[in-house]
Order: sequence, then C-alpha cells, then structure tokens
Amino acid sequence: MTLRLYNSLTRSVEEFRPADAAEVRIYGCGPTIYDFAHIGNFRTFVTYDLVHRYLEWKGFGVRFVVNYTDVDDKTIDRAAERGLTLDEFTQPFADAFEADADAIGIRSFDATPRATRYIDEMIRFVERLVTRGHAYAMDDGSVYFDISSFAAYGKLSGLDLDSVQSTARVADDEYEKQDARDFALWKSAKGADADVGAAWESPWGPGRPGWHLECSVMSMSELGDTLDLHLGGEDLRFPHHEDEIAQSEGASGVAFVRHWMHLKHLVLEGQKMSKSLGNTLTVRGLLDEGRHPAAIRHQLLSAHYRSELNFTRVGLDQSASAVGRLVDFRARLDRTSGSPGPSGPLTAKAAAALEAFERALDDDLNMPEALSAVFGLVREANVELDREEETSTADLEAVLGAVRSMDSVLGLLELVDRDRVDDAEEAWIEERIAARDAARAGRDFVTADRIRDELAEAGIVLEDTADGTHWKRG
Ligand code: AMP
Ligand code: ZN
Repeated sequence: MTLRLYNSLTRSVEEFRPADAAEVRIYGCGPTIYDFAHIGNFRTFVTYDLVHRYLEWKGFGVRFVVNYTDVDDKTIDRAAERGLTLDEFTQPFADAFEADADAIGIRSFDATPRATRYIDEMIRFVERLVTRGHAYAMDDGSVYFDISSFAAYGKLSGLDLDSVQSTARVADDEYEKQDARDFALWKSAKGADADVGAAWESPWGPGRPGWHLECSVMSMSELGDTLDLHLGGEDLRFPHHEDEIAQSEGASGVAFVRHWMHLKHLVLEGQKMSKSLGNTLTVRGLLDEGRHPAAIRHQLLSAHYRSELNFTRVGLDQSASAVGRLVDFRARLDRTSGSPGPSGPLTAKAAAALEAFERALDDDLNMPEALSAVFGLVREANVELDREEETSTADLEAVLGAVRSMDSVLGLLELVDRDRVDDAEEAWIEERIAARDAARAGRDFVTADRIRDELAEAGIVLEDTADGTHWKRG
C-alpha cells in the first residue's frame, strides 16, 4: 500500500515519493525556546512524531531534523529583561521542551540544531545570495532578500506578489528596505543584541540572522539542498515558509522541498489559545493536574491533522477511558491462556484491523479512522473472548501482535508501560530501604551502607530525617 499525503505546495493529495526511501530527509520547524511550549505547540510536535513513527512503520529509513529557534526578538528581549545571556536564558526552555516531549512519548529527533550554532553557515549563505543577485546590503549593516529577483515568490502561499500585505511578522521589521515586501536575512545589531550575546561579526558589521534564514540554513546544512518533507504549523506557511523557499532556491538553484505539510492549529475549550487571553496550557501543567500522559497524547492525536482539534478537559476524560479500554484489553489477552489448535476468527480479525489501520494512515494520515480500526478490534475480540469456547494461542498471539504493531505508531501503551516500570522500581526501592532500616536497627552498619551504595548506583539518593528515610532520584 502506498502512502499518500496532502502536499500544500500543489494543494492535492499525492503519493509520497522521497528521493531515497532508505533515508527520507525531513525538517520540521521547531519551538522558539523563550517559554514553555504550550499544548498547541505540542499538537504540532506530536504530529511530527506520528509522521516519524508511521514512516518507519512503513519501512522507510528516516532522518528527522527539528530546530530550536534560540535567537529572535522574543528570546533577546526576555534574556535582556532578566540580565542573562541568550544561552543562559534559552537553555532551561530547551531542557523543558525535551522533558515535556518525552513525557508524552515524542521520540527524539535525529538532530535538534540551534540557530546560534550555525552563524558562520548563515553568513556564507547570505553572501551567496548577494553574489547571486538575490540580496542587497543597506548602509546600516542589514541585508535584505530582494523578492523581485525570485519569480516564483508566492508559489506556496498562492499569494500574488502585488497583494502581499504586511503581516505581523513582516511588520516586526523596523528596518529600511528597498521594497516593503523584502525581508531581512541579516539584521544589524540594535538595542540589547550585543548585551545578551546576540551580535556576531559579519562582512556587514555586527548583527544577527533573520528568523527565516535560520531554518533554510539549518535544514540544508543538516539534510542537503532538497528535502523530501518539510513540516510546520499552518501559521508558518506565509511568510516563513514562502521566504525559506525564496532563500533556499535562490542560493542553491534547485528545488528546496518536494513535499510540504502544514498542520492545523488546536483550540482550547473552543477558544483560540493565546498568552493575552491567559488561556495557555502546558504539558507540565496538565501532568501536575494529574492527567495521564497517554490521555494527553491520545487527545492530541485524535483529530485529523488538517482539521481543527478542540482540546478539552472532558475530551481528556474520554481519552483516558479510551486508553483504559486498550490497557484492559491487552491485560485480558495476557492473562487468557490459549489452547492448542489452529487459528480461528480472531486471527482474521487482527489481520483485517491491521490492514484497515494502514489504509487509514496511508490516506493522508487519517488518524480518526486508524483509531477506529484499533478500537474496533478491541470490541470485536472482546465479544469473541466473552464466548465460552476456548481461544487458540495462535489467535491470542495474532491479536496481541496487531495491537503491539499499531501501538508502535500510536505510542499509547508504551507510555502506560512506563508506569509499570516505575511501580516495579518503587517497590524495589521501598524494599531496599526497609532492609537498610532493619540492618541499622541491628547495628549492622556495613550492610546498611552497602544498601545505600546500591541505591546510589541506581540513581536513588536517601535522606534520613526524624520521620524516617525519604528517597529521591539524584
Ligand atoms: P513557536 O514556538 O511559536 O515558534 O511555534 C512552534 C510550532 O508550534 C510552530 O510550528 C507553530 O505553528 C505551532 N503552533 C503554535 N500555536 C499552535 C496551536 N495553537 N496549535 C498547533 N500548533 C501551534
Ligand atoms: Zn522554520
């Protein structure tokens, strides 16, 4: 079966054809690390993870790069407010992003380049654009892309050049330029730039890269001139991605991206989420409320990526019970002892569910359909198991195998299983502490110390207090 994806460049669903199926080159625009990423950002990143997992499930080799934007107006302004350098200010948010992403089962990407580590490459890239007649420097030391030099400008967003309006991010630029629609590749150092370490020497004087340039340079440095797939939230289509195309194709002379995917935004309880409305929600906030990571992940995956997703607390309850049904089902399969004998109807149902699952995801990642293939199997197999007759081991294994295979894309049971590991580990720690208490009570300090060391080796730190021994992960 072939995977078909909606390509926002051609505005049609097309067969996904990477240049080399053994190494599909993918770039996704990553977070700006000036704050904790919110649940909306994570809808986008969970969808990246879905693409990552599903392509591997289909047998493609994948190289997936997601950047961190660590230099832009927001990171600079906030670092300056706090009297920190850019690196000091952004590092904790990069760490927090990785922790939150891991908490909801987003697998690591193959590389997470940061803009500030690619300054030399960016300067060389801008020089190339100047040489090729696509960019011009101003007296103040800023360099702009000349969009009149790039005839294909507008091909992604479908905008007609003459009607290009100043959008918020275009209007952000307070710099002089030849044409209002030109955008900054390199910005001369201003205000707090130098104070926070965001001004680099360049042939045009001290300055910093523009946001669009960062993504073109990082993606091409990591993946080459032509990417198979480029992803981002729907808001990035214009001007960010349009400008990436202009820069990249202007510099290389070849097509930048074969396939573009834009992901629809999430709304929260029916409302656009925004800092000014004060209704942003983070993964860590939800975990603190006691929400299970698998329920969060399930809800983020539940809608088609090109449809709006209304993230709600009621929806989270429903997601938690869906995950619960899956967990109970697997537990039932695990504890049912099978009888010898041939495959029966369950083997056929498992195969049909797997096929329906693949057909759904092949069809532009239709996740609602894929989920109904999974839960349809749960329902049908439960009916089958409710009958008095015995089930063959072959049947049980076929169903378990199908569930495991589908979950390697969904990543739900995988998250639930982390708790199991945690529970088992906690039981072991408690048992070791009790043994140490007993040793201490018997004045056997050698044994007590040995147990402390044993725990320390497992990364567990003990703290003896008046009301007993407490432990934490060190
Ligand atoms: P930012 O950190 O603002 O650069 O955004 C990181 C990614 O999250 C981008 O791809 C955005 O398009 C995406 N994004 C921002 N808001 C939302 C939202 N409400 N729902 C889904 N994705 C979003
Ligand atoms: Zn980008």
